[in-house]
Amino acid sequence: MEGQKVFRIGPFRPPSEAKSLLLQVTQGCTWNKCRFCQMYRHVPFKVFSVDSIKGDIDVMKYYADLALECRDTQGQWDLQTMNSMLKNMSRPEAECAQLIFNWVINGGKTVFLQDGNTLALSASKLKEVLNYLKEVFPRIERITSYGRAQTLAQVTKEEYKELKNAGLDRIHSGFESGSQEVLDFINKGVDVEELIQAGKNIKAGGIELSVYFMPGIGGKALSEKNAAGMAHVVNQVNPDYVRIRTAVIKEGTELWNEYKCGKMKLGSDDDKVKEIRQLINLAEACDGRLVSDHIVNLLQNVEGSLKEDRALMLEEIDKYLERPEVERKMYQIARRSGRADSIEYLDGLHEIQKNQLQKMVLAYGTEEQWNERINDMLSRYI
Ligand code: SF4
Repeated sequence: MEGQKVFRIGPFRPPSEAKSLLLQVTQGCTWNKCRFCQMYRHVPFKVFSVDSIKGDIDVMKYYADLALECRDTQGQWDLQTMNSMLKNMSRPEAECAQLIFNWVINGGKTVFLQDGNTLALSASKLKEVLNYLKEVFPRIERITSYGRAQTLAQVTKEEYKELKNAGLDRIHSGFESGSQEVLDFINKGVDVEELIQAGKNIKAGGIELSVYFMPGIGGKALSEKNAAGMAHVVNQVNPDYVRIRTAVIKEGTELWNEYKCGKMKLGSDDDKVKEIRQLINLAEACDGRLVSDHIVNLLQNVEGSLKEDRALMLEEIDKYLERPEVERKMYQIARRSGRADSIEYLDGLHEIQKNQLQKMVLAYGTEEQWNERINDMLSRYI
């Protein structure tokens, strides 16, 4: 292989793909106009040619072969040799090689296709990429991708079936809400019918669907509609996973400006928890799994099957909601500073620590100041 041996690496992946190989087939997002999102705001959207993606896969294979040469017959890895190989590479090459070495050491079985809207590549081109990827790395067991709902709705179930046969196992899509009012408010550029169509086609094609729900993204005013709308969509589509991504209104976004000029009121942490409660309560026709895999969620352990664990999840939420307001706020601060993941954390605290937390809570005057403080703390994680 001639020249610099590097491949493209996109900036984002879901937390569940932390150990996956990242293969960039497109760059950025086709829409880029959601009023809360800055993910790809300064990156022009681009679809890479199939040949250029195959070229990246070839470079990955080159580094995977180097890694495999460092494994003995007992399956032990010679990390020293791997490190000295990395030291002799240019910085961009070492970055790529390191990713592949880690992937191979972790089993080399999962792949995530980047960036924000892979299905912008036509189904036939994507199939060609998937076939090549599996041909080069036959040990791959799972391939997943992000997809924007409006694009996903235009792909037929027959095309999804073909993509599934070519190896695409799961699509992650940021539905965020199922309320048209909220979707319009955040300028999601999609309507509720398209969310449902996209979800149904993906499921009919045999591909797993993971949708994201954003409690709080409609602010205080649209809180109930946000949850009720999402429950409606979830009941229609029956996704395999509903992932909770608590809304954070980031400085620099249009929603932040809306908030700052008083047109939007931030929802409180309690409002967001109640939205999740409402969703669990109403999503009776879904047997998928509610997943809480991000630090921005207040109650990390509220997750489980929407069918079998409904009562347990509601109980967990109620344990939080039944606490006095000051304790709920003490927990919010502890959680938002990365110290706690359930309300019981407070019960194990020494009196001195409790008093410190209480003082912080009482130092905040109005509910709005408190919500802004929590939003600021959350912004550090996004
Ligand atoms: S579709 Fe997704 S990536 Fe694109 S702007 Fe909206 S939230 Fe951001």
